[in-house]
Amino acid sequence: MLQTLHSIVQEVNAARGLDHALNIIVKRVAETTEVDVCSVYLVDPDTHEYVLMATRGLNPDAVGRVRLRMDEGLVGLVGERKEPLNLEDAEAHPRFRYFPETGEERFHSFLGAPIIHFRRLLGVLVVQQTARRRFGEEEVAFIVTMAAQLAGAIAHGEATGTTSLLAGGGGSLAKRPMTGVPGSPGVAMGQAMVAYSPADLFAVPDRPAEDVDREIAAFHAALTAVKEEVKDMAARLANAVSSDEHSLFDVYLRMLDSESLVKGTEERIREGNWASGALRDSIARHVSVFDEMEDPYLRERAGDIRDIGRRILMRLQLDSGDQRSVPEGTVLVGEEISASQLAEIPTERLVGVVTARGSGNSHVAILARALNIPAVMGVAELPVNRLEGREVIVDGYSGRIHIDPGPGAKKEYRRLLREDAELSEELQALRDLPAETPCGYRVGLYANTGLMADITSSLASGCDGIGLHRTEFPFMARERFPGEDEQTLVYRQVLEPFVPRKVVLRTLDVGGDKPLPYFPVREENPFLGWRGIRLTLDHPEIFLTQLRAMLRANTGCGNLHVMFPMVSRVAEVDEAVGLLERARDELLEEGIEVEMPQIGVMVEVPSAVYETDRLAAKVDFISIGSNDLTQYLLAVDRNNARVADLYDELHPAVLSAMNHVVQAARPHGTSVSVCGAMAGDPVAAILLLGMGVQGLSMSVSSLLKIKWVIRSFSRKKARALLEQAWSMERPQDVRYLLNGALDEAGLGGLIRAGK
Ligand code: PEP
Ligand code: MG
Repeated sequence: MLQTLHSIVQEVNAARGLDHALNIIVKRVAETTEVDVCSVYLVDPDTHEYVLMATRGLNPDAVGRVRLRMDEGLVGLVGERKEPLNLEDAEAHPRFRYFPETGEERFHSFLGAPIIHFRRLLGVLVVQQTARRRFGEEEVAFIVTMAAQLAGAIAHGEATGTTSLLAGGGGSLAKRPMTGVPGSPGVAMGQAMVAYSPADLFAVPDRPAEDVDREIAAFHAALTAVKEEVKDMAARLANAVSSDEHSLFDVYLRMLDSESLVKGTEERIREGNWASGALRDSIARHVSVFDEMEDPYLRERAGDIRDIGRRILMRLQLDSGDQRSVPEGTVLVGEEISASQLAEIPTERLVGVVTARGSGNSHVAILARALNIPAVMGVAELPVNRLEGREVIVDGYSGRIHIDPGPGAKKEYRRLLREDAELSEELQALRDLPAETPCGYRVGLYANTGLMADITSSLASGCDGIGLHRTEFPFMARERFPGEDEQTLVYRQVLEPFVPRKVVLRTLDVGGDKPLPYFPVREENPFLGWRGIRLTLDHPEIFLTQLRAMLRANTGCGNLHVMFPMVSRVAEVDEAVGLLERARDELLEEGIEVEMPQIGVMVEVPSAVYETDRLAAKVDFISIGSNDLTQYLLAVDRNNARVADLYDELHPAVLSAMNHVVQAARPHGTSVSVCGAMAGDPVAAILLLGMGVQGLSMSVSSLLKIKWVIRSFSRKKARALLEQAWSMERPQDVRYLLNGALDEAGLGGLIRAGK
């Protein structure tokens, strides 16, 4: 069964669009389960009806024509109950409804399973048989599994807008936003351009063939060139390998001549795709056929076909030069986008970035933030190779994107863009005013930085300093650990411009979602693994180099604050401080005048929350890393779009933990600030003000918005709102309450801009 399922899934994945996928499914399911009928009914969200979308066994003319109300028939019942329905005699069931156009009166037994994607009912998968019988447990399990798989394919089909049968009445299927995680705040509207590695055949995007004949000719020229290549190879190796092994080249040549590759690709080009996209589909189809084969030798051939595909692709690219012009308003999309791919796009044409994988800490997200370009990361269902040239809205606040947005969404986002622009203009007036509440309480407002570009914009923003400088970037951007002199130079460039304002340099926080290419760490569960202070304490040679560089950079500046990430036990702080002292002593011995900086820890792990009292006694300052703290407290991966809805910093447990930290640190006179994304959320800032945090550190683009909040709410008012929030169980109620307060204070413009 598993093998069959696997092969159906492979075939479905290689399908051209949803209709094709559905037809494969009904055919293969009917064959596998030996039933007389297999059909798929999908929900048309516009008309709230089920539509027969594909069938094997019923009258094919009924496809697209048979429509049922949501509460109609056995199909409706399966959808209502959201569980399988297994009937020996369907006609005898009170909910049976007969559709003459399907010719289904002959079928007695009925098995239906709902197709559900993330709680949303998409349709119903049905099998039927003439004979009266109850389907066996294995068959039910198979159909349920198939329906679950189908849900993913349909969600994908929605995204690509390939639900052509519904195009008349249900065109809005494609308009549902897709969820990722926020990478860089802001909103953008533009045209997708797919970033892909030229050597990766399966990453090639669809693109309309501008000149079908030219594309076909290019394909044939590439085929011929690859045949020559293979013949050359064969000739070169003729004496070195046995005749058996040599026959492999004949296999290659036969594949290059095979009807399905040549004609199949031509046909796909005639259907409108360019040669590279058509080739990708032909090869995928071939690969899936070989992958399914029982014979392990033949299965291995799938690898050869991939190889052939890559060779033809390379030829096509060589011949065409594959030069794409970058239009104005480009949204760069990709499975993953490297910093260099992003850098190739002229910044004045780039309006947004979207990736299928990666997190808010990926290089490209860090760069996007520095460039002030909205970005959404980790959109798992992103149909990357169907996106070239399509219209995309990127909502970097909520981590959502819209593909081919409808007029309603476009209008709404145009309004938001306008409001965002007006707001930033209005906020400029606050630049030189202090972040002080109407009652005279001063909150330190700091910038989060990581790149040199951040430093320039932070300086211009009028912030009180840097509350979190992520030191990972120079480590990620090199091919080896940077040396002490290199690091000293980098840190000095951060410290010097801000003197006398404080600058918090965080020690290396790699691991988790921040890997180093030259220091691979493979772990089942990297977020609970070797990251942050754990890794650097285990590698004192790396840690000491960094600490020495920080101390040296501080000579003549005096504004250095050193902060340790991912602390989960007090002993780690003792050890880290011990190493810092050693670094200082070594430098003094070497005759370099350095002084001990202010020392702080990040509280971003639940155990640290409950150790605040002890930690506060040992350090000068505490900074709450709300990104990780929320992730660890709620057990929600901060980079997993599937559970993004569960990730909420306004969850009562998160608020309560943060309040605990603030209160427990107070008797020690240790300052507490917040440096996660929460600090830049206007709604959360009110609560943090109410708790009495002394500093907020955020991405530069949020600074003035938060200053506006602080200048508008007295501490008394903020405390009262915090009290009210305590009494609430649901994060969304807390947000509602605080949005109301923002509105009342005349800061309604921030409601959307914050999140
Ligand atoms: C945090 O976890 O809140 C934080 C600021 O650190 P990072 O996002 O770099 O993990
Ligand atoms: Mg963190």
